[in-house]
Amino acid sequence: MSWKLKKKCLDILAGEEGAVRKVWGDSLTVALAYPNLYRTGMANLGFQAVYSLINRHPACLCERAFLPDPGDRGTRETSPEQLLSLESQRPLAEFDILAFSLSFENDYPNVLRMLALAGIPLAAGDRGGRDPLVIAGGIAVTLNPEPLADFFDLFLIGEAEPLLPAFLGAALRLRGGDSRWDLLAEIQRTVPGAYCPRLYRVSTDPEGRVAGREPLDAAFPERIVRQTAPDIDVFTTQQTIMTTQTEFGGMFLTEVSRGCSRGCRFCAAGFVCRPARFRSAAALADSFREGIEAGKTIGLVGTAVSDHPQLVALCRSILAQGGSAAIGSLRLDRLSRPVAALLQETGVDTVSLAPEAGSQRLRGVIRKGISEEEILSAVDNLREYGIVNLRLYFMVGLPTETDEDVEEIIRLVKGIQHRVRHASGGKGKFRKLTLSVNQFIPKPATPFQWHPLEDVALVKRRIRRIVAGLAGEKAVTVTHDLPKWNYIQALLALGDRRVGKLLAAVHRRSGNWAQALKEVNVNPDFYVYRPKEIDETLPWDFIDHGVDRAVLVREYRQALSGAAPR
Ligand code: SF4
Repeated sequence: MSWKLKKKCLDILAGEEGAVRKVWGDSLTVALAYPNLYRTGMANLGFQAVYSLINRHPACLCERAFLPDPGDRGTRETSPEQLLSLESQRPLAEFDILAFSLSFENDYPNVLRMLALAGIPLAAGDRGGRDPLVIAGGIAVTLNPEPLADFFDLFLIGEAEPLLPAFLGAALRLRGGDSRWDLLAEIQRTVPGAYCPRLYRVSTDPEGRVAGREPLDAAFPERIVRQTAPDIDVFTTQQTIMTTQTEFGGMFLTEVSRGCSRGCRFCAAGFVCRPARFRSAAALADSFREGIEAGKTIGLVGTAVSDHPQLVALCRSILAQGGSAAIGSLRLDRLSRPVAALLQETGVDTVSLAPEAGSQRLRGVIRKGISEEEILSAVDNLREYGIVNLRLYFMVGLPTETDEDVEEIIRLVKGIQHRVRHASGGKGKFRKLTLSVNQFIPKPATPFQWHPLEDVALVKRRIRRIVAGLAGEKAVTVTHDLPKWNYIQALLALGDRRVGKLLAAVHRRSGNWAQALKEVNVNPDFYVYRPKEIDETLPWDFIDHGVDRAVLVREYRQALSGAAPR
């Protein structure tokens, strides 16, 4: 046992409240892994929710594991000990199940790293009866699990609440000594939303596109139906472990809504988390009370929090109990004067808004549904109520985008500053106006799933233009992702099973993508820069996300033709 690693776990546990420590006994043991640092993983409400769900099952036990901090990695790689679970400091290889929570494609290389650190064979086909069953869930694999097909025994497609009880019920047979292959086949037959990639054969045509997919047994479903909790009022999703060592250490996160019905054409959450569901004030009351008693700010979490029909009443009830509330990002068209007043009362001094595009034309193409008047009116309301810091999210590389659209971002931002200055008689403007500029990445199951990623060099040039165009605005800061990683993210989001070969090579080459690309005969541009045919089979088409393909086609064609609704 590396005492340094064990002490690290104990130090983390000492800074937490709410961790569950169950006795191993005969329980089905699950190591819940987040393929990034503790600080990031523990800020993810979905990760905490799954931890609680599994631990609430009387026959199951769940412990957590994270990507080690960079400073600890040397210790681990030279130590005979493996990656340890946090709660009991056991090697992950001793668990029955290793379950990854996957929200972001750029974390995929970390999955392989954690498997290697845990001493578990990377390829699902190389694992034997003594190895844990390696499974994954989360929005990234719900959209498209295929690039990870080689490494996972099973994916759970959809939301945890309907998926986990059925899966855990079946997986208990692992403790009874059932063979993993028989168990996986049984789960594939009987658990809706389960997907074992090795039970499906995929073929490609001479051009490399998916030509067909067939189950190895007629009893396996041809399509995997994404699972959704119909009523989120019958359970709560809230932070169960308190720690200051996360990105939202001062907050108590609680989910108020799930899904969104707005249909912005770029937004995966808007399409695959449907329908929009809102938790009622009555269902949230206990959660608010608990967070306030813990002395925390209530962080209202959801796909589209500001669309909650009782948002003002929810915030008022928190304030009335002496608490404070925080909302991640607000829809611009919901930022009315009463909402701005409420933000002021809750002590908020920074608000995030997402115009996404600078020109009205491009906002129409992406179906953002927000006019420039609404943007400026929201800004007026914020300033009137003393909100001094503003963060604006924009995308570049959107379908049909031109240099003029990018100039419109600069014009809009300057216009916002001018308007605020003018309205305040020259005295006031935003103390800090931060632009977060990200490259648009086409996502599966959205109307833009057929669209190629914009050329990374062009995106770099457009970002440089925005930075230069706003250089004279002292209060404005522009932040952006590195376009190179956007290319990788697009590859991992849009790829098929062959992309897994590339991931394995990247792992062998210690993260060096350039070397890996030389080693493996996979052309990443085929997935990233190629416009897909409307009638071709896409790698993720076997997942039934509950969205009619004809709707996606119609939306895509409308976007490209410019016949988009406002
Ligand atoms: S971008 Fe926001 S408003 Fe639009 S669909 Fe997604 S969650 Fe809804």
